[in-house]
Amino acid sequence: MTTFRIGGTAQFFARPPDLEQLIKLVWVAQKKGIDVRILGAGSNILVEDKIIKGLVIQLSSPFFQTLQISDDKVIAYAGVYLNKLVHFCLRHSLTGAEFLSGIPGTIGGALVMNAGIRDGNITRQISDIVECIWVIDYNNGRIKLILAQEAGFAYRNSTLDKFIVIAAQLGLSKGRKQQIRNKIKKYILRRRDTQDWSYPNAGCIFKNPPDASAGQLIDSCGLKGAIYGGAQISFRHANFILNKEKAKCSDVLNLMRLAQRCVMKKYGISLEPEIKIWK
Ligand SMILES: Cc1cc2nc3c(=O)[nH]c(=O)nc-3n(C[C@H](O)[C@H](O)[C@H](O)COP(=O)(O)OP(=O)(O)OC[C@H]3O[C@@H](n4cnc5c(N)ncnc54)[C@H](O)[C@@H]3O)c2cc1C
Repeated sequence: MTTFRIGGTAQFFARPPDLEQLIKLVWVAQKKGIDVRILGAGSNILVEDKIIKGLVIQLSSPFFQTLQISDDKVIAYAGVYLNKLVHFCLRHSLTGAEFLSGIPGTIGGALVMNAGIRDGNITRQISDIVECIWVIDYNNGRIKLILAQEAGFAYRNSTLDKFIVIAAQLGLSKGRKQQIRNKIKKYILRRRDTQDWSYPNAGCIFKNPPDASAGQLIDSCGLKGAIYGGAQISFRHANFILNKEKAKCSDVLNLMRLAQRCVMKKYGISLEPEIKIWK
């Protein structure tokens, strides 16, 4: 269930059909002292090779894949894939979300991670277009509205992982369909040129340190192609680790440690993981 295709199974797994069932589920889990984790599209998660204790909830039922539009505002539920959002915006001639094209995640995961890209000198992140977010508060099981400025958005980070993200309102603008289509094409092509989609992976493993590229630092340590068990550092993009042949979680972790050690030794820079590790 992750794009890495690595990891054990969940002790409990649920796909609630709607909000009411989700709230009930969380309430029961809390009462029984069961830990809850939310899985989006699993495109930024490395799962250990063991039974993951607790309840994993995926918001992938049709209810959580709803998109609503009112003028230049879109309400996207947590389980909506980013590509679906982008094409919905195109159909309605709305511009502003094109940069999310090809990121293989959901709205929920993108908000928690503050997903985005570097576009030349400009950084584009989902927080640029989010106005507010509806979440479930684990403390009381209630729905809460959080304004974008209260969501702790930073580079590939937010404070939304304390909640269950249900939906978000995005503020976009009216645009010309052909221009929106051209932008989507540009972003998809760039992704194909620079990223490695040849084997299962989880995108960038490390965050870029300030004013540096994690991929370039790892590359300059001569680590492209390094292998541990079934995992390999991509030749195409050194910040990608590929599951080449039945890789274990520990294979990926070993390559991550190797990259961190080498970059620290050569540059004194500490590489911080971007991916979430489920233990
Ligand atoms: C080939 C490839 C390319 C990628 N390119 C990019 C890129 O260009 N830019 C970029 O930013 N990322 C990129 N990624 C990483 C990833 O796609 C994004 O981080 C994405 O936003 C994660 O979304 P997800 O739904 O898969 O979340 P998951 O990986 O399932 O979850 C990520 C985190 O969010 C939490 N979460 C998910 N949904 C919810 C929810 N509803 N409520 C509360 N918590 C939730 C999870 O518990 C977890 O902590 C790439 C990944 C791959 C595999």
